[in-house]
Amino acid sequence: MKIEILCVGTEILLGDIVNTNAQFIAKEIAALGMESYHQSVVGDNPKRLKDSLSIAFSRADIVIMTGGLGPTYDDLTKETAAEFFGRSMYMHTPSLERIEIFFKKIGRDMTENNKKQAMMPEGASIFENHNGTAPGLAVRGKLIDHPEWGEKIAILLPGPPKEMAPMFRESVVPYLAALSEQVFISHEIHLFGIGESAVEAELIDMMETMTNPTIAPYAKEGEVLVRVTASAENCEKAEEIIKPTIDTIKARLGQYIYGVDVGSLQNALVQLLREKGLTIATAESCTGGLIAKRITDIPGSSEVFGMGAVCYANEIKTKLLGVSEETLRMYGAVSHQTAREMAEGARRVSGADLAVSTTGIAGPGGGTTEKPVGLVYVGVSTPHGCETFELRLARGYSADRERIRWSAASNAISLATNAVKKLEK
Ligand code: ATP
Ligand code: MG
Repeated sequence: MKIEILCVGTEILLGDIVNTNAQFIAKEIAALGMESYHQSVVGDNPKRLKDSLSIAFSRADIVIMTGGLGPTYDDLTKETAAEFFGRSMYMHTPSLERIEIFFKKIGRDMTENNKKQAMMPEGASIFENHNGTAPGLAVRGKLIDHPEWGEKIAILLPGPPKEMAPMFRESVVPYLAALSEQVFISHEIHLFGIGESAVEAELIDMMETMTNPTIAPYAKEGEVLVRVTASAENCEKAEEIIKPTIDTIKARLGQYIYGVDVGSLQNALVQLLREKGLTIATAESCTGGLIAKRITDIPGSSEVFGMGAVCYANEIKTKLLGVSEETLRMYGAVSHQTAREMAEGARRVSGADLAVSTTGIAGPGGGTTEKPVGLVYVGVSTPHGCETFELRLARGYSADRERIRWSAASNAISLATNAVKKLEK
């Protein structure tokens, strides 16, 4: 079934608000593996709303609309949609009662026009709104002007994202799933160290030809996620359909894959450490604690992480981690040697099984060094020795401090993960 998104609101057309509803819904339907080829926006104008809806129905089986379910005269999505299906409106008493209770709860008087929100097209499925007043709804049937187009569905959701998003997850997802009598399963393959376009180039033949499962890459915070989604009559069948595709992707891109369904780089690291019963410590200069932050974001990280030291100044690197003054003088703070001594020092001081360090230049203006912005050294110390890595993170990009720091932390977490893979407890 093809789905199309139609957002109603003059504010979107004027650029006063960003159409986050369309983004949210698009992602949700992609995750369900459903096809969507068009999105549009129309203002609060009955004639143009009718035109847009008519065009949408000519292309899609299901049109999901947001906005215009409110109590005022310009909120006309519901009435317009009902006309397409030739349905009259009736007072849906359970919704009216919910609205009355909502107003009591927030201690405000309900005005007469609020009742309009409980008026529903005959035969509609109603979606309760737990975060506001306007219920959502779905109308299904043939269109009176175009019965030859077959069965169509209009799904109407409130405009405010705080109401729309929970309603989508609670009511629309099960509604859509029930339509197809199919189950959808998706797995997320996480890659690091490769760009989205390079991933796409590797997988484009599969992306273009495959319909079940479908493959879609997403770029996210310097990483790439490939979502593989299959539908079948049951979960086992869907898993069977997915498996060979995941194997093919692993064969093509295995060196960049750090996990399947692992959530994030730091999650993969923490999981792996827990599985192996190992601990890690960090010593950070240019990342300023970002690695420690990302590790401690993960519930259960206290089992594997005991110390994160931020050693920004040279004398602290020496005092706390034992980086020698000679190393700092000869090679500078941003060097393989300093990264090595920081990582070794952190492992010694903390007693952890391994330690990771960063030292580098995150932005212009800092320090007295002549080394380029984006130059970062990472040290990874394990019982087998210490390896250091040189990264050039400003290449091809503007020297954005935030991005360089994030990328340095991601690289360090990834390098630490590779080291953990080689360790046994
Ligand atoms: P209300 O009962 O609040 O009038 P409604 O269903 O009639 O809700 P609109 O009047 O179209 O919805 O929009 C209400 C508010 O919701 C907008 O002012 C805006 O803040 C937000 N909103 C509407 N549509 C979108 C959208 N597509 N993306 C993000 N926010 C939106
Ligand atoms: Mg409104």
